[in-house]
Amino acid sequence: MLEILRSVIQEVSRATDLHSVLNIIVDRVRTAMSTEVCSVYLFDEAQQRYRFMATRGLNVDAVGKISLGVGEGLVSLVGERAETINLEDAQKHPRHLFFEEMGEEDFHAFMGVPILHHRKVLGVLVVQQKETRRFDESEEAFLITLSAQLAGVIAHAEATGSLLLPGDVADRPSSKFYGIQGAPGVAIGTAVISALNVELHKVPDKHAEDIDFEIALFQEAIKETQEEIAATSAKLQDRLQPEELALFDVYLHMLDDSAITGEVIEKIKAGNWAQGALRQIIFAHVENFESMEDEYLRERGVDVRGLGNRVLARLQFVDTRTIDYPEKTILVSEELTPADLATVPRDRLVGFVSIKGSGKSHVAILAEAMGMPTVMGVEDLPLALLDHKPMILDAFQGMIITYPKKEELDYYEVIVREEAALIEGLDKTGDKPCITQDNHRVRLWVNTGLMTDVTRSLDRGAEGVGLYRTEVHFMMNDRFPTEEEQRVIYREHLQAFAPRPVTMRTLDIGGDKALSYFPIKEENPFLGWRGIRVTLDHPEIFLAQVRAMIRASEDIDTELRIMLPMISSTAEIDEAQRLVNQCYREIIEEGGELEMPDIGVMIEVPAAVYQARDIIKRVDFLSVGSNDLTQYMLAVDRNNAQVAEIYQEFHPAVLHALTQVVRAARKERKEIGICGEMAGNPSAAVLLMAMGFDILSMNSTNLPLVKHALSNFTLSHAKAMLAKVLKMDNAYLIKNYIEDEMRAAGFGGIIRSRNYKLN
Ligand code: PEP
Ligand code: MG
Repeated sequence: MLEILRSVIQEVSRATDLHSVLNIIVDRVRTAMSTEVCSVYLFDEAQQRYRFMATRGLNVDAVGKISLGVGEGLVSLVGERAETINLEDAQKHPRHLFFEEMGEEDFHAFMGVPILHHRKVLGVLVVQQKETRRFDESEEAFLITLSAQLAGVIAHAEATGSLLLPGDVADRPSSKFYGIQGAPGVAIGTAVISALNVELHKVPDKHAEDIDFEIALFQEAIKETQEEIAATSAKLQDRLQPEELALFDVYLHMLDDSAITGEVIEKIKAGNWAQGALRQIIFAHVENFESMEDEYLRERGVDVRGLGNRVLARLQFVDTRTIDYPEKTILVSEELTPADLATVPRDRLVGFVSIKGSGKSHVAILAEAMGMPTVMGVEDLPLALLDHKPMILDAFQGMIITYPKKEELDYYEVIVREEAALIEGLDKTGDKPCITQDNHRVRLWVNTGLMTDVTRSLDRGAEGVGLYRTEVHFMMNDRFPTEEEQRVIYREHLQAFAPRPVTMRTLDIGGDKALSYFPIKEENPFLGWRGIRVTLDHPEIFLAQVRAMIRASEDIDTELRIMLPMISSTAEIDEAQRLVNQCYREIIEEGGELEMPDIGVMIEVPAAVYQARDIIKRVDFLSVGSNDLTQYMLAVDRNNAQVAEIYQEFHPAVLHALTQVVRAARKERKEIGICGEMAGNPSAAVLLMAMGFDILSMNSTNLPLVKHALSNFTLSHAKAMLAKVLKMDNAYLIKNYIEDEMRAAGFGGIIRSRNYKLN
């Protein structure tokens, strides 16, 4: 059964349009189950009807002509119940509905399985037989398994369907694709697909501007790959058997003009760029092998794929041209990386889209710090079809519109203008401190990482840096930076903000923050080797970094604070402090004249919430990392779009944990801040102020919004709201209540513009 499932799914995934997808399904299912009928009905949301879309065994002329309304027939009953209905004789069921034009009169046995994608019924898959009998358990299991696996492919085919129509831009209907807000805002522009060192299956199709150039580039890559293979073969002459060495000749032969190379050149001549043409040809061959019955031949697909990746690597290496980005570029990537953020010149960039990742992915946080509207997790977006195509990005709603209509463009142009005016107005609050209407002072600091954050932060009146994500610099490099390289960078940061305090976090890699030169492969990266766990296991990395931080502060009128991420036990703090003390002593012994920096701990693991008091006794300050704390308290991967809806910062458990940490810090009379994204959400900031956080640290994009909200609010009102909220037991109700209060207090504009969905 697994074998059949695998081949049906493979074939369906290869189909290029919805019509073919559905026809393959009905065809293969009927054969695999040896039934007389297999049909698919898809739910039409707009009309609220189940449409008869494909069949084998019933009258194909009725396809597209028949539909059932909600409450009509057995098919819609399967949809309503969202469960399988398996009947010996459908004709005896009270919901049985007979359509003469379908030719159903002879069929009795009926089994309908819902096709569900993200809790939504997309349609119903039906098998029927003349015989009066119940489909047995194995048949039921087969259809349910198949339907569950096909749902994603059907959803994708439905969503991309209109993009596959032939014709001009002007003829195409606009299409909407949904994801999650990564950073708020709206942008209208041209999609550019990022092909930055991607793997072969992710290479997009692009129009070749200069066909001869693409061919020359490809031929150079082939030549280099052939040389590389020949050299490897020569090196292994003495160690391999002749039949194993023969494999190298096979590879070399595949790269001949008469084989793969020739086919790729034909594709380039037809207009695709070299990388896209290579992907097309390699995958055509891979699919060919993989569809073979013989297991040995099927496995050969792996060799072809490997060869393709080799050529691609050379191609990416020899292709050094710079891209001409359109004036309003929306950079679209399979998986946005910090390197992507820096590829497009700032004055040409208006937004980011990422197929993978979620709202609290680190790269989304960096994008927000840049003030770039970003949509994450748009899983159905057909990357390969969108290069240089018109696009609207509505990050407030987490939505992408391709080939927008004139009315849509007009509508969004107004929003873009309104948003720019709102931000400009708020920016004027500049250097003024944040003081509430009843004279309570809240310190608003910034989170930094990219060097570009510095000027924006200072312009927007940051009073200090609450979180400097040092790993961003590590992620942009291709090797570990030396102590001296780090010292220079940290010093620039300290100097730019002096005399304001700067909180430097020690290297926080792992989870979704990977270093290409220090790969960490784990089944569960967010529960694995992350943050302090890595650096305590590699004290040489930790010591070099802390030494660089301390030495960077020499002779500057500044306040350096060092912060430890991902602490889950007091032993980790003791060990880290021992290493920091060692660094400090060494530097003093070397003749340095410096103060010992303050040491702080991030509270971002539930264990640390319960031990907050033990922790704060050991250090100078605490800072809550609410991004991770929410993830770990609610057991929701912050990087996974699939579960983004249950990542809720207003969850009562999260709010109670925050109050508990503040209480612990108060009791020890130490300072407490928060540097998760929550601090930059004006609605949440009101509650955090009421809880008693001394410092709210956020990205510079949100600082003016939070300052505007808090300085026009009163602490007493915020405290009354908090008292109410702490008695509530549901995140949705809490969020609605706070936003209602904010609207009533005149902050509707900010809430509308920062539509922090309870995701
Ligand atoms: C956090 O977890 O809230 C935090 C600020 O750290 P990061 O987002 O870098 O993990
Ligand atoms: Mg964190």
